[in-house]
Amino acid sequence: MLILWLYWFEHLIFTLFLVIVLSIWGKEGFRGVAKIFVQAVRKIPAFNNLLSSILKKEVKNFVGTIKNTESDKSAAQPKVSLPKKGISHEELLKEMTKIKADDQDPSSGKLFAYVYTNENGHFDIQKEAYELFSEKTGYDGDHDKLVKEFYYAFMHENALNPMVFPSLRRFENEIVSMTASMLNGDDQVCGSLTSGGTESILMAMKAYRHRALKLFPHITNPEMVAPITIHPAHEKAASYFGFKIVHIPIDENCLPNMEKYEEAINANTIALLSSAPQYCHGVIDPIEDIAKLANKYDLPLHVDACFGGFMLPWVEKLGYNIPPFDFRVKGVTSMSADVHKYGFGAKGASVVLYNTAELRKYQMFAYAEWPGGLFGSPSMAGTRPGGNIAAAWAALKAMGQDGYLSMAKGLMETTSYLIEKINSIEGLTIMSKPHMTAFAFTSTDPSVCIYSLADALEEKGWKTERQQNPPSLHCTIMPNHAQVKEKLVEDIEYCIKTTKGKKDLAKKGTAGVYGMVGTIPDKSIVEDFLIEFFCQIYKS
Ligand SMILES: *Cc1c(COP(=O)(O)O)cnc(C)c1O
Repeated sequence: MLILWLYWFEHLIFTLFLVIVLSIWGKEGFRGVAKIFVQAVRKIPAFNNLLSSILKKEVKNFVGTIKNTESDKSAAQPKVSLPKKGISHEELLKEMTKIKADDQDPSSGKLFAYVYTNENGHFDIQKEAYELFSEKTGYDGDHDKLVKEFYYAFMHENALNPMVFPSLRRFENEIVSMTASMLNGDDQVCGSLTSGGTESILMAMKAYRHRALKLFPHITNPEMVAPITIHPAHEKAASYFGFKIVHIPIDENCLPNMEKYEEAINANTIALLSSAPQYCHGVIDPIEDIAKLANKYDLPLHVDACFGGFMLPWVEKLGYNIPPFDFRVKGVTSMSADVHKYGFGAKGASVVLYNTAELRKYQMFAYAEWPGGLFGSPSMAGTRPGGNIAAAWAALKAMGQDGYLSMAKGLMETTSYLIEKINSIEGLTIMSKPHMTAFAFTSTDPSVCIYSLADALEEKGWKTERQQNPPSLHCTIMPNHAQVKEKLVEDIEYCIKTTKGKKDLAKKGTAGVYGMVGTIPDKSIVEDFLIEFFCQIYKS
């Protein structure tokens, strides 16, 4: 009975809306009144919920009518995991040909948006790429070449409109799905592909900001809490979207003080932030402890795994001690993971994930009043280059679980070697216990200036990253470091000898700049300097 009534009621509402919509048609004068009426109705929760469910049903039906291409059919199973064994390059390129067949040819002259090519007549990039490939033998094993072929084949395609190039839609859905399963998400976990770690973080932060605007409109000065080591992309988000990040200092193990973390939570807090691992020292934040706070205060929690998302799962599988950092931890509501870092895709690919579709909704943007048509977009970018999306898909499929695992194994061996050797150099120490393939080292001897050491190393061609508070040098380990690891240690030992106790060196070059910056109490002066610096270097 109730169901019948609901059914009838639903249709009544829908009819009502149809009447309103129809009355708007042609009657300019009524538009304003009708709009006010609709807005009022949407304020009544029961009506709005009903409206949402009707809307959902309509959209589902609509999507059902368009999902009929070959690529959609073969992607019918909604959840995809990373293949156990990396797929051969030849097979992937064959699959690419099939998937791409559903796309409008960018050079066909039949498209009137999305694609800007300087090509006259027919130019089949994909065919060229394929031919380029098939000329070669012994191709398998050359990861970058495969990634390039995919990049090249899709460089003119655009994921701005998900209907124009179904291949990109499929790639994106599969990349998100593979990443979610790698990070132990359940089947509620969903997300988006973005242009990089920063965009992933901006999107998650935007989602939390908009969630708070909707659910807690009384909060006018929203705040998030984060260890001081959180990546600056979060600060960028705070600056762009209007919230504040309260920073928690770290101890000698590079971990945030959890008492201070809890104290920082107040009535304005709208989300908690953490990293797995943080970039500076390669150390994973105490995610479980922070998640406990998230649960206790009913707050969402973002884990920035831009750096470690495609590394930690494998390091853990290899048997290293990795504290829980992903969706297995109850309370984690979103994560970011960069395909263009240890996922080994081409630059311009990252994934942002949410534990519910409800949360992801706050990330999306829609605008229906533009004369140019209905506009919707999931992330920051308008045009979304197809090349990096296709390249990311190829990278994940070609690497597979076994590929990532053996990559992680080699990288962890190089890292362990360097950590052990640097720790044994007098005057130097590795900061904390890094969890994966990156570390920072600092000076334990006042006569060893770490910035002078960096300058001396640079003269020998080594570009270590200068860090501060305390002064330290950062290294992220790549496969090609395996062949130079002994030489690096040798050069560090040599440069320690040549710089030790030389106070004049500490005042020169980058060491001088970094040393001076360290003594400036008000960092806003330094920030002004940085902005001036960028203005100066970006001109002809
Ligand atoms: C690299 C990185 C980011 C930012 O990613 P981009 O791709 O450079 O925008 C964010 N967080 C961490 C921990 C990172 O290592």
